[in-house]
Amino acid sequence: MLADNIFLKIIDKKIPAKLAHEDEHCLAFHDINPQAPVHVLIIPKKVIPTHADLTDTDQALVGHLHLVARKLAAELGLGDGYRLVINCGDRGGQTVPHLHMHLLGGRDLHWPPG
Ligand code: 5GP
Repeated sequence: MLADNIFLKIIDKKIPAKLAHEDEHCLAFHDINPQAPVHVLIIPKKVIPTHADLTDTDQALVGHLHLVARKLAAELGLGDGYRLVINCGDRGGQTVPHLHMHLLGGRDLHWPPG
């Protein structure tokens, strides 16, 4: 399951995605079912199934994902605010077993989320 999840196929360019950013450590692409005018997913290329699987060795990678999110927010016109979301596990609403950060913006985002 981990070896063939949909995000690994996007990393390997086996299925298409509308890319927003790529570097040696991560990939960002527009969500196929956007929940806001801007909805981008930022994912590590390293296989990490969930947020709960992060270890101390991932410290720099986690920081990098956040800095890419900040860069994309600026590039995509989210100067008036945005939201970063990481769903973790079944009860956290995670549906794809590859760590990903949602970058959402372009509309008012209310709290608490559903
Ligand atoms: P999760 O619910 O796991 O936090 O988020 C998974 C996200 O991946 C969902 O927002 C869903 O719309 C998105 N998604 C699932 N399959 C694909 C796909 O094949 N391409 C793209 N671009 N997004 C996908």
